[in-house]
Amino acid sequence: MFVARVHNPFVSLLARRAIRASVASWQYKKHLYSTKPHKREYDIVIVGGGIVGMATAQELITRHPNLSFAVLEKEKDLAVHQSGRNSGVIHAGIYYTPGSLRAKLCVKGMQKAYEYCDKHQIPYKKCGKLIVAVEPEELPRLENLMSRGIENGVKDLKMVGPEGIREIEPNCVGLKAIHSPHTGIVDWGLVTKYYGKQFEKQGGTVYTDFLVTELRQTLEGKAGSMDGLKYPVTIVGNPEKDQLLHCRYVITCAGLHSDKVAAFSGCSSEPRIVPFRGEYLLLNQEKSNMVNGNIYPVPDPRFPFLGVHFTPRMDGSVWLGPNAVLAFRREGYGYTDINIPELFDALSFRGLRKLAWNYLGYGVKEMYKGIYIPAQVKQLQRFVPMLQLSDVTRGPSGVRAQALDCEGKLVDDFVFDQGKDEFGKKILHVRNAPSPGATSSLAIAEMISDKVHETFAL
Ligand SMILES: Cc1cc2nc3c(=O)[nH]c(=O)nc-3n(C[C@H](O)[C@H](O)[C@H](O)COP(=O)(O)OP(=O)(O)OC[C@H]3O[C@@H](n4cnc5c(N)ncnc54)[C@H](O)[C@@H]3O)c2cc1C
Repeated sequence: MFVARVHNPFVSLLARRAIRASVASWQYKKHLYSTKPHKREYDIVIVGGGIVGMATAQELITRHPNLSFAVLEKEKDLAVHQSGRNSGVIHAGIYYTPGSLRAKLCVKGMQKAYEYCDKHQIPYKKCGKLIVAVEPEELPRLENLMSRGIENGVKDLKMVGPEGIREIEPNCVGLKAIHSPHTGIVDWGLVTKYYGKQFEKQGGTVYTDFLVTELRQTLEGKAGSMDGLKYPVTIVGNPEKDQLLHCRYVITCAGLHSDKVAAFSGCSSEPRIVPFRGEYLLLNQEKSNMVNGNIYPVPDPRFPFLGVHFTPRMDGSVWLGPNAVLAFRREGYGYTDINIPELFDALSFRGLRKLAWNYLGYGVKEMYKGIYIPAQVKQLQRFVPMLQLSDVTRGPSGVRAQALDCEGKLVDDFVFDQGKDEFGKKILHVRNAPSPGATSSLAIAEMISDKVHETFAL
């Protein structure tokens, strides 16, 4: 579909794509979901209207067209948190340990994402990506990444020198770089809404403004059959909005709240979710042709983040970043966004205190970069020296759900959880779906659906 890079001669083409993208998202802004249940009983309810929940809902209803499904989302729309506030990159799968689930799901997920976007005419751009080494000590890590990418089955990777870098990105400098031509960009929030649209088309129901506060055993005689056996799980929302449902099984995909929601049904509160905010800078509009595609640093293997990068967006803008700082609330998108009980709760967790102690220097540096823009710009000038402080303004931010164990170790694998008793076994919690969860979403959905099949008697 969109394979061209963004050069000036293509401005009108770009403008047409931007209009198509905004028309598509406008159509979804108009879409209103119901808040009050119009039906009380469902076979399967999915909690969380992010990209993981919606991809799972879509996959399950396709596999089980005779069952009834509902998705419950606490916000007024889908994809309000991580799924609608991210870099918008379609990752190719270079970084992850060969053979790991993350690597497999990303490589498969990327292919499925492109197929899905083609099928549903969702705009994307295959603008490619450079991972650039600027210091000699980064070269062995870059070589290592190249081997990983090849082992993971990422197609058409090429190592390029300074000349090759300039051919792809005329304003970028570096000693050596990996070029990944199939890396792309898309509006993941829009993709989530398409998943929702397909889910509804197949008979599923989405309820928004439905904050799930309790999962409990259905009382006898209250639902479905006289003994409550048919729909044994009761889901409680806001009683003032008459939000009460009964169902056979529940799958929770609650992102930043996945630990809290798991604890509702008696599961452990660990691994805990620690919110890390990523803050972006915005390249001024008249400078947005400074880069053609994604430019990334060689990541530091000690940290789970990929480092600040240049990322073109579907609307023609360019985002720079993100850094990674501890957020003062789970959905805390700015420094003044503080929730004292949540912050106290986070700080009283031994795992977070250990993490903070181990990465104190890194954390302070990231916070400094967030507050003092020149420090962030200096970092970015290593790749694009022509970038000036006057070329950027503060941009949006996103908050990542980072799972953490009580020893302060970052959990980077998938974590599923279920209660031990009969009631608990009817609820499957997706407690950690690590990044790049958006790229991998369709592959993750297949994996969760297989798990649902083996766990529940459908
Ligand atoms: C800054 C940043 C940059 C990223 N960049 C990329 C990228 O470029 N490419 C990529 O592939 N991935 C990227 N990711 C990762 C990706 O965005 C996430 O992995 C993915 O969006 C996770 O989706 P989710 O559905 O698990 O979570 P979410 O999108 O957070 O969805 C969870 C949903 O559950 C709802 N919920 C929670 N509790 C309740 C409750 N009690 N009742 C009802 N609803 C509830 C929330 O409101 C939310 O909508 C990035 C993430 C961040 C933060």
